[in-house]
Amino acid sequence: MKFLQVALDVPLAREFDYLCADAQPEDLGQRVRVIFANRPVLGVIVGFSDTSDVPAERLRAVEAVLRETPPMPADCLQFLRFCARYYHYPFGQVVLQSLPPGLRRPVAWQPRKVRKVRARKPDDSPGHAVHALNPPQQALVDAISADLAPQRFAVHLLQGITGSGKTEVYLALAAQVLAAGRNVLLLVPEINLTPQLVARVRAHFGEAEVIDLHSQLAGVARVRNWLALQQPGPRIIIGTRLAILCPLPDLGLIVVDEEHDTSYKQQEGLRYSARDMAVVRARNAACPIVLGSATPSLESLLQARRGRYQLHRLEVRADPRARPPQIELLDLRAWPARDGLSDPALATLRDSLSKGQQSLVFINRRGFAPTLWCASCAWMAACPRCSGRLVLHLRARQARCHLCGLQQSVPRNCPNCGNADLRPAGEGTQRLEAALSLALPGARILRVDADTMGGRDSFADLRTQMLAGEVDIAVGTQMLSKGHDFPAIACVVVVNPDAALFSADFRAAERMLAQLFQVAGRAGRAGVAGRVLVQTAHPAHPLFQALTRQDYAGYADVLLDERRLCGLPPETHQAVLHASGIQEARVQAFLDSARQVLAPPPGIEVFDPVPAPIARIANKYRWQLLVEAKDRSLLHGWLTPWMTLLRGLPASGLNWVLDVDPQDV
Ligand code: ADP
Ligand code: ZN
Ligand code: ZN
Repeated sequence: MKFLQVALDVPLAREFDYLCADAQPEDLGQRVRVIFANRPVLGVIVGFSDTSDVPAERLRAVEAVLRETPPMPADCLQFLRFCARYYHYPFGQVVLQSLPPGLRRPVAWQPRKVRKVRARKPDDSPGHAVHALNPPQQALVDAISADLAPQRFAVHLLQGITGSGKTEVYLALAAQVLAAGRNVLLLVPEINLTPQLVARVRAHFGEAEVIDLHSQLAGVARVRNWLALQQPGPRIIIGTRLAILCPLPDLGLIVVDEEHDTSYKQQEGLRYSARDMAVVRARNAACPIVLGSATPSLESLLQARRGRYQLHRLEVRADPRARPPQIELLDLRAWPARDGLSDPALATLRDSLSKGQQSLVFINRRGFAPTLWCASCAWMAACPRCSGRLVLHLRARQARCHLCGLQQSVPRNCPNCGNADLRPAGEGTQRLEAALSLALPGARILRVDADTMGGRDSFADLRTQMLAGEVDIAVGTQMLSKGHDFPAIACVVVVNPDAALFSADFRAAERMLAQLFQVAGRAGRAGVAGRVLVQTAHPAHPLFQALTRQDYAGYADVLLDERRLCGLPPETHQAVLHASGIQEARVQAFLDSARQVLAPPPGIEVFDPVPAPIARIANKYRWQLLVEAKDRSLLHGWLTPWMTLLRGLPASGLNWVLDVDPQDV
């Protein structure tokens, strides 16, 4: 054991040998300070060996073993190694990026006294009462707990409509696991959007037994919670996707809530899917995992079809007073919309307002209008640095690029022909808000989008305002559909879902379907049947027909069959090589060489490089190369040597990265 193998945060697929006189086998996973490229950097010991390829005169000694914090457990290291292999990402970077930022510097951790965090005011929303489980809930708990007692890996896919009582099922299972002295990991998509779930868990189990892990925790708190993970439990860990990369000893159960949510996939650096990796961790820990959603992903539904996941359904709302929403399609050909809203939609909103009920208006675009348009020469405001349009933000009197953040003042005249009659084209949240205030004077309207929900607590504040009855109409983007514990509303209007039906992105329909079911799920509180109005020019489309029948599973089946016919994921497996740079020719040349550097075997298809869906952002051209295979292991067997060859290609002036199981191609 003369040499230490040290993982470093460098983009090389290898570890580095260092000498260390006093390292012990227990130091595996320990943080160390080493000199690399003449600078002190943080490393993590990931192995020992008796030999080294590095010539003796170039070997250096470790500067310090930082034993103030416990080493990363071996099973965690082993899992991170799997991640690195699966995503074809340097192991050293996976290890270092899995640490909380506060532990990534090459210094000893100083446990400082932290200010007691201001306690949030207790959640005043209803639903904290513990209910006796209803028979379907109980049956589900019984089925899943069969895998708890003799600790057995199994994946349970829980498809339960909004309000069917999935959370109560999670809590009942968690209680069993804690009683057996083991830990529970509860993954949520975004901590901001699930305050009620977090509050319910805390109310149920008490503060002391709950740890949270998400990127919004201040540096010190995040390190403390990371350290607390490794203390003896039992406890519940509530985390966002990054929690899946943390040490998780004694796991008895993993729950992934809203498993379809795209925020489980990291979109930069190590592009991991926390949901997929959660399944891997459950298998490693030999414990069951529950994937819950009202609108499960096609990936998970396919596994259920194949019998690898057990599918369970909760089809009725748990609250006996709740009634299912009434879903209606408004044919835009018969009822043309002005400023986004058709007359019947407006009438329904007016009616809810007069009854003192709350409504929600859902649109896919923030800003006032998607763009500014010249009526005489058809010029449209485009971002000079991206391939996107500039979005009109009327209140700020700006045209903004949502891709690169560029802000320009709104031109008075058409830069092309000088015409002064520039018009907004299309609708955004701001335009709807303005149209609603005109049509419904006196209504208290609140806009909910990335522009108004910037602050950490804004979503919680919005919820509080809704619960306090201070808002009549909330106008918002998909944030509202993702607000998983948004209070129930009497009426929901969906403004313009049609674009997704004809999108070039083969996942657009799946996403729209999920969003529509999620927003529809917000309608109807105890005793009041909610109304959902969907404005569309294609009311006969099977997607909308499935929505009115409230048959998510039925249409998901149709989509799955389509994917099989077309040879698309999840029936096939993909990886995308992304490259970007200022000089488009270089980007293309890189992907061309990548395409040629290693011939794929039969069963793997490497497509020609094409411009990315958004072909330019902030002056950088973006191209991509798609690799597709029916067989996952065949694909990965080829990606490994291919990546090695790619690392040897000249790539100056550009960035490239591989995305395995990409979510947007
Ligand atoms: P989901 O997580 O599936 O959206 P929840 O667990 O939040 O559903 O439950 C929806 C509502 O029904 C909550 O107000 C909850 O308190 C209530 N509820 C859940 N289970 C029961 C039950 N067995 N009996 C009565 N009400 C219940
Ligand atoms: Zn013009
Ligand atoms: Zn731009």
